[in-house]
Amino acid sequence: MTEGPGEFALIAELAALFGTPPDGLGIGDDAATWPAATGTMAVATTDMLVEGIHFRLDWTNPVDLGWKALAANLSDLAAMGAMPGRALVSIAIDPARRELVLDVARGLQSLAALTGTWIVGGDTVRSPGPLVINVALFGQANPSRLLRRDAARAGDLVGITGVLGASAAALALLSEGAGPMDPAAAPLLAAHHRPHPRLAAGQVLASHGVRCAIDISDGLASEALHVARASGVGIEIDVGRVPLAPAAVELLGDRRSRELALTGGEDYELLFTFDPGLRVELATALDADGGLTVLGEVTDRVPPGDARFVEDGQPIEPAERGYVAF
Ligand code: ADP
Ligand code: MG
Repeated sequence: MTEGPGEFALIAELAALFGTPPDGLGIGDDAATWPAATGTMAVATTDMLVEGIHFRLDWTNPVDLGWKALAANLSDLAAMGAMPGRALVSIAIDPARRELVLDVARGLQSLAALTGTWIVGGDTVRSPGPLVINVALFGQANPSRLLRRDAARAGDLVGITGVLGASAAALALLSEGAGPMDPAAAPLLAAHHRPHPRLAAGQVLASHGVRCAIDISDGLASEALHVARASGVGIEIDVGRVPLAPAAVELLGDRRSRELALTGGEDYELLFTFDPGLRVELATALDADGGLTVLGEVTDRVPPGDARFVEDGQPIEPAERGYVAF
């Protein structure tokens, strides 16, 4: 949106907010630069959020939106065993609402500062339609410690960080709610508006010899299936062991919370598989970032390429498998 003095002022404000990294070029030149680290793998990911599809500004304020836009990308890096470095942020917005850009930028910068991410550029364009925000994130990983979807092996246990269903429960309450929100919903709303991607947990997994992980922000059921397909293994998950968000159980009941935990999405947690011999040390090491719940195993009881849910030993089918983009 570089057409008038107002646009220059906006870029100047963004540049001041995001800062300039000491070891490269940030906002202001034709492109950003940073040192290429030797001995590491460059890891890149990008995510696009469209108003009306992925968020609504009556339920999510622009500052939280900025936070979440970066969180989604950070969670993908975490699931690779990578750490963040630099990000590019592109925004399409109706010029009549351009003041929202700085609020989005403030949310982005809060999480960037917390996670050692530099926002070094992007693009701002006018668009009469919905607000669109795209974040491209670049980071690095140890090449011999990458966490991949295709690395699950027969006999592995299946673990997960954190509790599930909190964000989906918040969304359910927001979409149903007329009156004021029950104070008991606070942890659910926090999970929905300000998710904390599991970067530290990803590092713990990578450094303790785990080789298979996936981010489950699109839903546990769909992501377990991705791992099973990519690895060519069968996965069995015991529904009774899925860790539920306590506030969701309190406000929505056990059954609904369980369904949201399996298929709801927007839980920025990591699903991973690992050799049973690692269980004790992983449980201790993950204590600082989400903890470990073992909820299943990689097993020949399930055909290769499939992920099954069992409850009291009986197979069940979750109502739907996670978020589908199209
Ligand atoms: P160009 O003409 O090279 O596209 P722009 O005028 O669009 O440059 O942008 C000027 C500078 O501001 C560039 O360094 C660009 O990366 C940065 N920039 C523009 N929009 C954003 C944004 N939304 N977030 C971060 N940086 C931005
Ligand atoms: Mg531009």
